[in-house]
Amino acid sequence: MIRHITFLSFFFILLVSCGQTKFVGYEPSNMSTILPEPVEGAFAQNVILLVGDGMGLSQITAGLYSNGNKLALEQFKNIGLHKNYAYNDLITDSAAGATAFSCGIKTYNGAIGVGPDTLGRYTILEEAEDRGYLTGMVTSSTIVHATPASFIAHNESRRNYEEIALDFLKTDIDLFIGGGNKFFARRTDEKNITEKLKAKGYYMSNYFDEELTDIDVKAHKKIGYLTADADPLSVEQGRTYLPVAAKKALEFMEHHCTEDQGYFLMIEGAQIDWGGHANKGNYIVSEMIDFDKVIDIVLEYTKQHPETLVIVTADHETGGLAINKGSTMNNLDMKFTSDYHTGDLVPVFSAGPQSDLFLGFYQNTDIYHKMRTAFGWLKDSKI
Ligand SMILES: [Zn+2]
Repeated sequence: MIRHITFLSFFFILLVSCGQTKFVGYEPSNMSTILPEPVEGAFAQNVILLVGDGMGLSQITAGLYSNGNKLALEQFKNIGLHKNYAYNDLITDSAAGATAFSCGIKTYNGAIGVGPDTLGRYTILEEAEDRGYLTGMVTSSTIVHATPASFIAHNESRRNYEEIALDFLKTDIDLFIGGGNKFFARRTDEKNITEKLKAKGYYMSNYFDEELTDIDVKAHKKIGYLTADADPLSVEQGRTYLPVAAKKALEFMEHHCTEDQGYFLMIEGAQIDWGGHANKGNYIVSEMIDFDKVIDIVLEYTKQHPETLVIVTADHETGGLAINKGSTMNNLDMKFTSDYHTGDLVPVFSAGPQSDLFLGFYQNTDIYHKMRTAFGWLKDSKI
């Protein structure tokens, strides 16, 4: 007992004598920027949905503490949680997870924009187009991968990449940026979807022909840019395009949308999930920080465009990641319980008009309904 007291007093004296210096590097971030307060009752003209694939709370924490205890994500005041289980499995995959966001339904793992009956459902992106909004998608995976695919395609299986690419001809999406050139231009059926999209009026380009930074997004009304032949590189391997693509997409939307025409934009940080599957902490951290750069760009934009609702969430957590005892700031002991997704609840961050809708505890499918409510579409529902 006495030894304990002696030890505690020693520890107390140590704390007092060290003062603040003991906590160097541990201060909370001092983000000085403040997001605009939404106008009460106003609908959102634009909705930007940012999906960090596999981004659970531990991935966010790992990114935060590995980035000098600072993330753009900290600027959000409205935070909620969603239940992300699939129709047939408590552990969702990205296809069922994204279909919940895009169509408002629980479906089976592997389903792309279809219900449990494998029949297609109307997506929020398709509805936005039909209502005259501009639409866009940006991802650090292939553009036909589960998350973006679920907004634009209808397929019983996420693996049917060539069929999913064909569905890009059936919509009028205005801008898309992601990998997967081979599913458009080097297909097993020898159809050339890139040429067909050009014939539909798209300015089609890719990593091989042109840098994304060189594209004048104001000069083209429809743009498809393919960033890799198959999967894009990771940040660790040198990928830098996601924040650039986010900027280009915002510039595109700002230039081409008219006063009474809004837009729907989905941006995915896809490879946080891949780091989780690989059980690689550094992979997760680098992708998380890259995705946070996108969040920063979007939030800076909304300060000039307060009619824009921003939602940041994940489809699920990946890896069962925990940050363990012995971790220090910038030197985390990360351990995994799985090389697949887990059933953890995931957070939802929101700002802008109608963002209060996203407070609280709800189903992943409610994200869809809340986005439609935020757009003010409930009165004249098309579905
Ligand atoms: Zn995954």
